[in-house]
Amino acid sequence: MDVSVFNPTAVPVVHPTAQGVERVSQDLRSVYRSGKTKTFDWRVSQLKALLKITTRHEKDIFEALRSDLNKSENDAYLHEVYRVSESCKLALKELPRWMMPERVETSMINFPSSAEIVSEPLGVVLVISPWNYPFVVGAIAAGNAVVLKPSEVSPATSSLLSNLLGEYMDPSAVKVVEGGVPETTALLEQKWDKILYTGNSNVGRIILTAAAKHLTPVVLELGGKCPAVVDSNTDLVIDALSSELENFYGKDPMQSKDLSRIINSRHFDRVTKLLDDKKNSGKVVIGGQWDRANLKIAPTVILDAPEDSLIMNEEIFGPLLPIVTVDKIEDSFGLINSKGKPLAAYLFTNDKKLKEEFIRNVSAGGMAINDTVMHITEPTLPFGGVGESGMGAYHGKFSFDTFSHKKAVLQRGFAVDADIRYPPFTPGKVKLMRALLTGDILGIPRALIGW
Ligand code: NAD
Repeated sequence: MDVSVFNPTAVPVVHPTAQGVERVSQDLRSVYRSGKTKTFDWRVSQLKALLKITTRHEKDIFEALRSDLNKSENDAYLHEVYRVSESCKLALKELPRWMMPERVETSMINFPSSAEIVSEPLGVVLVISPWNYPFVVGAIAAGNAVVLKPSEVSPATSSLLSNLLGEYMDPSAVKVVEGGVPETTALLEQKWDKILYTGNSNVGRIILTAAAKHLTPVVLELGGKCPAVVDSNTDLVIDALSSELENFYGKDPMQSKDLSRIINSRHFDRVTKLLDDKKNSGKVVIGGQWDRANLKIAPTVILDAPEDSLIMNEEIFGPLLPIVTVDKIEDSFGLINSKGKPLAAYLFTNDKKLKEEFIRNVSAGGMAINDTVMHITEPTLPFGGVGESGMGAYHGKFSFDTFSHKKAVLQRGFAVDADIRYPPFTPGKVKLMRALLTGDILGIPRALIGW
């Protein structure tokens, strides 16, 4: 990837030392306090800059994702470029409405009064993310100063983000800190007003512990197992999977240029260990090949893996699909609910009643019926985990809300201040207070009086 066109000397380099990280946090806090990031104009300018990155540097983004993951251009466009640019466009279109205080009703006890919910930025936020800019979209749209910590396991994407954000965005309020565990640890020692972390649940626990020290709220987008339930009345069975996989990747998937690779050898070894587990032997019905030198694993289907096998208990996060057969489809709901709550759960069926039961009885961060993953492409739907798959949600307006504080504002005048709120609490005052609160004045229902 050629990043020289970005003129690296013009990019403010953040030195990822402990002092460097502390300075980043202090600088951002003073910029935030100046009020610069809260203005509508600043937010719009930054969203436009981000949009510009996706249009001008589409090819560079493809190259970085190809270099880190051998991700196909199609996938990179749909899940990265398109999603980021759509998020920016939506935020630019809706921002005036999102920023507008929301008027709400007030009760008789405060008469006369008005009330509104004001969305205010949280302050300086830390986003620890692999390669998803939409987090930054929400953080900026909500008027925060932001530190983005891309993942060191995707070095090309990390370096590209650092260069592009450095060149296009306001460097005083949006910074990228690159590095690995020591840098993330140093970042976590600082006080932030929100931390959004995407990654595995072990590090998720470290993030939550560090945040607790500063009472910092967190959004954790974690992993886990995402089950798919397939009704035997559909034709999605092993033969169909086999022929579709051949359509996708040819007879030898290891030779396919469209097969993404595993991000690094640590993850490669983790995934192949699930296949190597003795308890799984003899059950591979599709795929099963791997190539450590090129970090590639063929899409692999494993039939009836025992419940105590590694693959049925560890997070997979790789191209393996264990299939478990159940006698009654409802048994699958119990199986899913007996494990940690997944980030997503899927059902394939045409049975309307079964769909309703699945939605009602299976707990998951999100769901797609007769598809996988695509629910995350809808900005009208919140994306986030529940239980062991995480906490908090984002996408579209949910991203704006995630990075905003909803400030309750009640406004009153000086004209009326009923003394029934104050001592001495005579029987008459108590009666009047109750009547005002319940609307039960002289036995006339509140609805008839009109409040
Ligand atoms: P990773 O190794 O890239 O780590 C993520 C971040 O955590 C990095 O910035 C890293 O520096 C930091 N980190 C790692 N170890 C740390 C430590 N001991 N202390 C402090 N910081 C530390 O992440 P990964 O585990 O390779 O990512 C894969 C995981 O992410 C999977 O579990 C997957 O399910 C999950 N994931 C979730 C989502 C989602 O949206 N919910 C999306 C993508 C990935």
